[in-house]
Amino acid sequence: MSKDWKTRTKLVHGGTRRSQYNEVSEAIFLTQGFVYDTAEAAEARFLQAGPDEFIYARYGNPTVAMFEDRIAALEGTEDAFATASGMAAVSGALTAMLKAGDHVVAARALFGSCLYVLEEVLTRFGVEVSFVDGTDLGQWRAAIRPETRAVFFESIANPTLDVVDIGAVAEIAHEVGATVIVDNVFATPVFSRAVEQGANVVIYSATKHIDGQGRALGGVILGTREFIRGTVEPYMKHTGGSMSPFNAWIMLKGLETIALRVNAQADGALAIADALQDHPALARVIYPGHPAHAQADLVKRQMGKGGTVIALDLQGGQEAAFRFLNALEVVLISNNLGDAKSIATHPATTTHQRLPEDRKAALGITPGLVRLSVGIEAPEDLIADILQALGAAGGKQ
Ligand SMILES: *Cc1c(COP(=O)(O)O)cnc(C)c1O
Repeated sequence: MSKDWKTRTKLVHGGTRRSQYNEVSEAIFLTQGFVYDTAEAAEARFLQAGPDEFIYARYGNPTVAMFEDRIAALEGTEDAFATASGMAAVSGALTAMLKAGDHVVAARALFGSCLYVLEEVLTRFGVEVSFVDGTDLGQWRAAIRPETRAVFFESIANPTLDVVDIGAVAEIAHEVGATVIVDNVFATPVFSRAVEQGANVVIYSATKHIDGQGRALGGVILGTREFIRGTVEPYMKHTGGSMSPFNAWIMLKGLETIALRVNAQADGALAIADALQDHPALARVIYPGHPAHAQADLVKRQMGKGGTVIALDLQGGQEAAFRFLNALEVVLISNNLGDAKSIATHPATTTHQRLPEDRKAALGITPGLVRLSVGIEAPEDLIADILQALGAAGGKQ
């Protein structure tokens, strides 16, 4: 593979390994083990496996390796480790590198399960975690200390779509030698330039845009070869969070079309956000890629396009939000995102249901907030569907 290939070429050909049959479409090596010609060969491989030699699927597998190499080529990192889910990637990357007594600084606005890992799990093992408003560089500066080992944040936070300045936070973190770990799901690996901007480790839930068709769970940790093979792999291969070969094949095929899909989704999201700007039923329309977004310049610099998710805040609170959701005909009510199908979620009563009211309010998760993951349907049909549902929700506009 050439390092000079453009993204779309890397996505189709990167990491490919062909068997003796020279198949065109990547093979699924649905095997947990590998046969050795001799006892001596088995001994030698356990001592030091070569770059394309495998021992056991929890350690590695040819289909999984194709996915790892293809996404590492896309992200521009030396290596990658594929995991059973996005959360196996988040918890694996953090647990693999941290020990009791370490200090972590994290943005407060996080996916619920990420918050659980940082707040409930790591602290049980003697890791101290400080939370900050990820968009406030002064808070990062105040919280990061000489003993801070890692900082963790979502580059675009779920569900309010606040954007964290990767380069600026990395600069502060690197002054004390802390590792910058970015959960980059909402940015997608296509729009991401996180490593170039200073991130040391990038994490994706492959369940979202990488699969892109809502079929399988998966995740990936990307970083230097030393971090991935020296720190992450020993932890993951012995604790069991590895990706299955079948899921790796789904993700590998997902990568072939991801650039086409997320570009179409982001263009659709911008068209929808534009059409809704002054709608009387809406208190707020949040889309990081729209010129009206408070962080539009940062978004342009950090990722070019604004991603595939919009947040709408309905004037009439939860009742209006529910009327809106129930009136949608094309857009589905569900809680995945990044799918080819457009999906709407009411965070306050689903993904963030368990957060106390004061914490919801602090994070901007209002009763009227609806998260809209824009799919690849025709934007005109999505706009018409959303407008008719807003009409049904409005009542007393
Ligand atoms: C979905 C998601 C995860 C978790 O991924 P799973 O594949 O569901 O385990 C982590 N972070 C963010 C930002 C997500 O959206």
